[in-house]
Amino acid sequence: MFQSMEAARLEALHLAQDPCGLRAIVAIHHTRLGPALGGCRYLSYADEASAIEDAIRLARGMSRKAALAGLPLGGGKAVIIRPPYLGNRAELFEAFGRFIETLAGRYITAVDSGTSSADMDCIANQTSHVTCTTANGDPSAHTALGVFAGIRATAQARLGSDNLEGLRIAIQGLGNVGFALAEQLHAAGAELLVSDLDPGRLQLAIEQFGAQPVAAEALLTTPCDILSPCALGAVLDSRAIAHLRCAAVAGAANNPLLSEDLASELEARGILYAPDYVINAGGLIHAHLSHEGTAPGVIAAQLSRIPQRLTELFAHAQAEKRSPAWVAERMAERMLYD
Ligand code: NAD
Repeated sequence: MFQSMEAARLEALHLAQDPCGLRAIVAIHHTRLGPALGGCRYLSYADEASAIEDAIRLARGMSRKAALAGLPLGGGKAVIIRPPYLGNRAELFEAFGRFIETLAGRYITAVDSGTSSADMDCIANQTSHVTCTTANGDPSAHTALGVFAGIRATAQARLGSDNLEGLRIAIQGLGNVGFALAEQLHAAGAELLVSDLDPGRLQLAIEQFGAQPVAAEALLTTPCDILSPCALGAVLDSRAIAHLRCAAVAGAANNPLLSEDLASELEARGILYAPDYVINAGGLIHAHLSHEGTAPGVIAAQLSRIPQRLTELFAHAQAEKRSPAWVAERMAERMLYD
């Protein structure tokens, strides 16, 4: 475990259990720039080691996301291992809230895969170090807004125009972010190719946006202009990259590349990659600023900087003959460690 912590330069790893069924992990990656804010996942894992790895990997990404978005925050992430049977969900999240309170503000929790604003309300009964409550709102719509604007910036950089009309955009995952993104892309005139493991969500996208359904296993290799991974992470390995038939990859999923060095394989294939922690920062920006009580107009102005940041990153990468992911990583490292 210490080896993984050292490799990720993780500050601390906290574990807690409670008889109500709670088995929780909080990974705190970095707190020099501010408290570590990051979502809480509530998922089943093959084993405890996978849950810990997930928390560490995601916490590291959160530090980079906050630094590049210019937020006074560090990076952290929580994982609650979903028990096979749960008696009382509210009790579980209240127990998690007591655990967060013991960390004295070094970590602020938020919504992530498997958790909701209602869960955050339960946590808020025990600690103030929580955002994305029903009062703050779910961050997904803001993430989708940022990804939509980021896709336009990516289209401009790779295809020479930010007009999405008639572009074929393949979305993997029509969850909270993917579905809201599909709605905006449809309104902008894009042709949508979509997949989701949930047939109900797929049907809704077909009915509401005239989207073309694609089998989950075929989505990544379907011919399109832009591939938008909006499901889980690590979907692009070397083999998948070799078979991609798109001009760019730009989506909401955290860590869509199995490993960071794969960005150079995308670059070698002429596929422009919008780094995940730059394009999907909208939710974090909203979660932090709403927690601080910032006015909605100021939050909207901060969100609107995402496409500009991407455009600068793409230009920088082109000038340095490097992938945008390589440039983003170096910029984040300087901000975190210099
Ligand atoms: P979600 O759980 O609401 O949706 C994920 C969707 O993907 C589900 O509908 C699921 O059925 C589908 N899915 C899972 N595996 C799939 C597969 N192999 N093929 C097709 N569909 C599949 O999650 P979300 O909140 O929409 O987040 C999506 C991604 O964006 C996640 O990786 C998340 O970490 C990342 N992200 C989310 C936010 C946010 O504000 N919600 C912010 C930053 C990053």
